[in-house]
Amino acid sequence: MSIPLNSHMYDVIIVGMGPAGASAAYELSQHGISVLAFDKQRHPRYKVCGGGLSARIVKILPADFLSVVEETVHRVQFIYGDQESFLIDSPEPIAYMVMRQHFDRWLVDKARQAGAAIREGETVVAIGAVDQGVEVVTKQERYRSRLVIGADGVMSVVAQHCFPERRLRTIPALESEVHGECAHAFQETPTALISLQAAKKGYGWIFPKQQGLSLGVGEFVKGTTRPKQSFRDFIDHEPALAGLTIPSPLGYPLPIAQAQAYRSGQTWAGRLVHGRALLVGDAGHLVDPLLGEGIYYAVRSGQLAAQSILQTLGQPDLHPLSEYEMLVASEFGPEFRVAGRLGSIIYGLPRSIHRWAGHRFPEAYQRVLHRYCALLQGKETYQSLWNRMLYRLHWPLAEKPGA
Ligand SMILES: Cc1cc2nc3c(=O)[nH]c(=O)nc-3n(C[C@H](O)[C@H](O)[C@H](O)COP(=O)(O)OP(=O)(O)OC[C@H]3O[C@@H](n4cnc5c(N)ncnc54)[C@H](O)[C@@H]3O)c2cc1C
Repeated sequence: MSIPLNSHMYDVIIVGMGPAGASAAYELSQHGISVLAFDKQRHPRYKVCGGGLSARIVKILPADFLSVVEETVHRVQFIYGDQESFLIDSPEPIAYMVMRQHFDRWLVDKARQAGAAIREGETVVAIGAVDQGVEVVTKQERYRSRLVIGADGVMSVVAQHCFPERRLRTIPALESEVHGECAHAFQETPTALISLQAAKKGYGWIFPKQQGLSLGVGEFVKGTTRPKQSFRDFIDHEPALAGLTIPSPLGYPLPIAQAQAYRSGQTWAGRLVHGRALLVGDAGHLVDPLLGEGIYYAVRSGQLAAQSILQTLGQPDLHPLSEYEMLVASEFGPEFRVAGRLGSIIYGLPRSIHRWAGHRFPEAYQRVLHRYCALLQGKETYQSLWNRMLYRLHWPLAEKPGA
């Protein structure tokens, strides 16, 4: 039986309504663009994720974002040895904690209120080119639009159909949630814990939520690690988790950006735009390679894609679409490059060296971590942090940093 064709021609079809797709739908609909969006699940839906947002995200989200925040974190504890840790406190928020089902639904509602047509529970199975547009096929119907955005996460169908040459890297990450009263310091003073001790080539985290904790492990060097074993070791040895019953974790691949792809001089053509298709968020592998932060980049890439589409739809050709790649390359590229470099150093060094360095140079460690939290607050960038480190090491080309 052939699949019926929907007679409406949309400006943009968005596949996937996580933070990337919902942000793009919201921006485009606000500007009067006709948007049809699909999600194979129905919101609110569960998503394997820590739900930790760097505080700088507040600058790019709609104003009532705080209504879906579970906890505001002013304290981060970094653990680098069995007994050793650093505490960073800040009067300003360092991070916000959300539950993805609430956060994502809030963003989807924003897009719907702005005018986007949203079909939930409808899975996109294929995408093809037609004259002056694209055809998006679900099990129910075929739909046509002038452009398509792939916001369908790490296993993107849009990427598979429109960017078949892509071979990108993912790393394994595991997450579990503890619900109910977890009577300890994490909730009395909402504290995010980052433990280098928890993973061999990555880190473990504990994030406070209103009704419990989210915790997990990410291993950032593929092939050399066993994330399930790291997770078990983490919950067995982390004192903050003692006495808690921790459900088995769920795993999901994390599509971290490949640092070498962001070297200056590398061409961006065809990475995120091909013909009438654009990739945003996890579908475009736009995840910070140091910490695995993806939500900020999902929202921001959705906004940048919308910005380029708004220019393109008024033009006779598709040329302005490639501006999206340039915007991502200039805004995220230098940052991912430094984040990747820091990741190679931090995860590449044996843990004994971190312990030694933490004992030997505690003030320098504290300073770097303090600056890292300033980065999460949007007051530093990876590039400025890197320059500070080089300057301290008397690197000849490092510029004198500001205050
Ligand atoms: C264990 C773990 C912990 C993490 N913790 C954090 C964290 O604390 N902070 C952070 O910033 N990032 C974290 N991340 C990364 C973050 O979850 C992602 O970067 C983020 O969800 C990307 O958003 P997105 O909108 O691109 O994709 P997604 O959130 O994956 O959304 C994609 C949407 O597309 C839909 N979809 C997929 N295929 C189809 C289809 N064929 N048809 C229709 N719909 C489809 C899905 O149902 C889904 O709703 C974590 C990731 C993992 C795995």
